[in-house]
Amino acid sequence: MHLRYSYRLYPTVGQRQALARTFGCARVVYNDALALRKAAWKADRSRIPTGALAKAVITDAKKTDARSWLGSVSVDALQSSIRDLDTAYRNFFDSLSGKRAGRPVGPPVFKSRKDGRQSLRFSRNGFRLRSNGKLNLAKIGDVRVKWSRALPADPSSVTIVLDPCGRYHASFVVDVEPGHLPEVEAEVGIDLGLTTYAVMSDGTVIDNPRFLRKAEKKLKAAQRALSRKAKGSRNRAKARRKVARAHAKVADTRKDWMHKQTTRIIRENQAVYLEDLNVHGLARTRLAKSVHDAGWSAFRRLLTEKAARYGRHVGVIGRYEPTSQVCSTCGVLDGPKPLNVRTWTCGACGTSHDRDLNAARNILAAGRADRLNACGGPVSPGVAIPRRARPVETGTHRNAGRTGRKPRAAGAAGIPAL
Ligand SMILES: [Zn+2]
Repeated sequence: MHLRYSYRLYPTVGQRQALARTFGCARVVYNDALALRKAAWKADRSRIPTGALAKAVITDAKKTDARSWLGSVSVDALQSSIRDLDTAYRNFFDSLSGKRAGRPVGPPVFKSRKDGRQSLRFSRNGFRLRSNGKLNLAKIGDVRVKWSRALPADPSSVTIVLDPCGRYHASFVVDVEPGHLPEVEAEVGIDLGLTTYAVMSDGTVIDNPRFLRKAEKKLKAAQRALSRKAKGSRNRAKARRKVARAHAKVADTRKDWMHKQTTRIIRENQAVYLEDLNVHGLARTRLAKSVHDAGWSAFRRLLTEKAARYGRHVGVIGRYEPTSQVCSTCGVLDGPKPLNVRTWTCGACGTSHDRDLNAARNILAAGRADRLNACGGPVSPGVAIPRRARPVETGTHRNAGRTGRKPRAAGAAGIPAL
């Protein structure tokens, strides 16, 4: 499996200038190639082969006065730029034809000098790892690297990224064999939310750290300072970097926290089950900022990646499982509960439930049933969740905030809501 390993780079002033030149050239080559492909498509619906494209925008362009400076940077970085355009087109076409799952991907767009994040890639021919720990980049030199951890194997490519706060990173792609953690018995269902970040079926509660909310005051001050600076001034550029640094700090803290949480969950459990939340739908409601701050998509992606890497299982149960309406003790569908109902007592068996813990237990049961089904084994008869019932609570499901539909009465549970 391919993994990315990222390290901070400390280029010298001269190396920064060389990198800036290479970022610029890679961007120009990308834009030139994109313009040619667009023109060819418009003219006669044809596609220029990658080799011919590279010849036109690199080899031949170098000989013209307008593009002669392309000769001063690594040709490997320029070729990678064209391959990146190819990938962008392939993703777009695969998305159109339905070959690519997930959200639709748009066609490639032109890159701008003003983009906050600049990047370029070197293939195996464009970089070398020196025995003194430095990273040699073609036509840039030996760059100092902070090796925060060891590379597990020889990298196949490296991407150099300059972020909006002026930091340089090297991101290596490494092919590693997935390892296996020693097997454990525990399996867990996780109910994600905004009040508490996660409640797990074993009773563990992860508080919502709300990194963005906590930093909001500082961010607003930085943003205000920026808006007062004259356009095009040096002070404005400085203020912009300050805003970028404040945002980066929130993002970094969140990322670090998320890595710690997901690593612990994967280490302690053989299987992890989650609910499929409509994050993109929720992000359009008034909960948007909190939803983005929670970063559920990243949380799920990290869990999935780590599970694949360490031989664990992550199961995602359907978006319409009524996980907060069913009693996890006796399996009776007790009807919808508005979000402000934090605890309730089952009318059938009399168990009193914490809303989120009950949901987490239902997610665990539904996930186990799905997994057994997929393996062709018998479905656990323990907790049967009626599949036809649809959730109608507001908050974490698709219809929340969009249709404004009121929760139905318990008696109408048999009628599908969607
Ligand atoms: Zn019950």
